[in-house]
Amino acid sequence: METHISLPTAEPPKCDFCSGRPVVACFIASDAKLEFELVDGEPTGAFKRITLNSSSHWGACEECAAIVRTWDPEDKEGKAQEAMYQRCYDRAPEVIRNSASGVASLYLIQDQMFWSVFRGVEHGMDEVHQ
Ligand SMILES: [Zn+2]
Repeated sequence: METHISLPTAEPPKCDFCSGRPVVACFIASDAKLEFELVDGEPTGAFKRITLNSSSHWGACEECAAIVRTWDPEDKEGKAQEAMYQRCYDRAPEVIRNSASGVASLYLIQDQMFWSVFRGVEHGMDEVHQ
């Protein structure tokens, strides 16, 4: 089974990291597409192929924006990433926290679609809705 999901911009906007509100900052990654497969329900073990698309703009709430702003290109340990993974894990619904594939996709989406392409660019909220 093939599923295509364009990650929508919620109205009012939600934080693209933790789903919190309000969104107070916007960071620029790049347009991204991520494909992965999930086991589609026990006990059949059938795979479901999922394609996610996201735009380059990542909205962030106050707390997540503070974490993103600690990002340092010289930091090889990825402290900002670690802090964000932990925050998103803590705030994820129980059904995701209790699922290995849920946790993996939580990290994978953020890593592939944001951190791997983020170069520290933030722009003003007045430029977000154009
Ligand atoms: Zn947030």
